[in-house]
Amino acid sequence: MVGGRVTKYYLYLMGLLWLSGLQANLTVDRFFEHLGQKTDKLVFYFHGMPKLEHTVAPLHDEPEHYRAERFIFHKLHFANDQVRKLLLLNSKGYYHNGHHQCYKLKFKQLEDGLELILIYDLRQVQCVEYHSFKAISGFDGFLIQINHKLVGSQELVALQNQEKQPPLNLTNQNKLAIKNRLALEKYKLNHEITIGLDYGHGGTDQGAMGLSAQPEKIITRQVGFKLKKLLVDLGYNIIETCPDDLKMDLDERTYLINFANKPVDLLISIHANYAANSGAMGLETFFSDQQLFKTVVQSCLMDQCQRNSSGETSKKLANIVHETVLELVNPKIGGQVIGNYNLKDRKVRCSAAQILLGVECPAILIELGYLSNLQEAKKLNEPAYQEFLAQGIAQGVVNFLAAYSSTFD
Ligand SMILES: [Zn+2]
Repeated sequence: MVGGRVTKYYLYLMGLLWLSGLQANLTVDRFFEHLGQKTDKLVFYFHGMPKLEHTVAPLHDEPEHYRAERFIFHKLHFANDQVRKLLLLNSKGYYHNGHHQCYKLKFKQLEDGLELILIYDLRQVQCVEYHSFKAISGFDGFLIQINHKLVGSQELVALQNQEKQPPLNLTNQNKLAIKNRLALEKYKLNHEITIGLDYGHGGTDQGAMGLSAQPEKIITRQVGFKLKKLLVDLGYNIIETCPDDLKMDLDERTYLINFANKPVDLLISIHANYAANSGAMGLETFFSDQQLFKTVVQSCLMDQCQRNSSGETSKKLANIVHETVLELVNPKIGGQVIGNYNLKDRKVRCSAAQILLGVECPAILIELGYLSNLQEAKKLNEPAYQEFLAQGIAQGVVNFLAAYSSTFD
């Protein structure tokens, strides 16, 4: 199957792709690996986008059903030992994710840049996408998105069986595929709603402080626990990424959501904001979708990338929750706001926040208000105000589910 296509793909990828970028020495400052059931996402953050060269690489020790692609990021170095260690996990300069075997990465520091070789198994990978984007933090991001073949596809079922058990005869294989399909249908019809809650920051990562009596990590949990109680009372299942006050990496959080023991229908991440301008205040809600990403390398398998993104659903969730919080905190009579809190509307925004980028379900990130604003910092420390915010979010979730739950995957 692969043989006839190789020449075509090779020619397709032969050209070098150059990105505009600064030629000063650049560093890779952060790296995340978001593992998922449908996709794995490798995210690199740079100060300035490096010039990128991309070619198909020859296979060495790998079997024929693998493909290797080589990238050189010109003038790029590791920012610090922590990033270096993460990427060069052992002395061979070789990093392999322990989750499954569908891809591996090799990094090498060259004199004038960083070489990355991505090797993936064509039996398990449907296609790979390469995108650049601007992160919410201001960093330049590079995303490698590895799309898995569909769960339950005959080829994949056969492969899983081959790896776990002695080969099955055709009859048994068919039976297994049918069983998987039935399980999926049952889930669609009967499943209860499970909501993921992510309380921003924790442990030594305090988040913002500003003029607040308590750091952001405490406020996100105080509001989050109130929200959790309301949602549990409404009968929803809850999965929390990090209920304890502990530092947890963002790709660890997304892993917990993507591989929760019950499929998570939507995720809400709670944060509080900070700005140098102490006058800035108000509620902001973020979602992430495809429009943020610019394709930088045309991979040979791109025509097979036909994956539905959860971006549209995330946008609907963001709009409904945002509006509901504002309505609840700022009640109106005859067009006049009568509440005491006067929460400013800083709108729903589309942004590549890391947690939103890494989860596979519809997801939003809510910035409850600014801890750098004295008035808002005081309110955010008040249990009564926190309760208003939690009720607004919970009611927003209920409104969203009433309108859209039938459209879930
Ligand atoms: Zn935060």
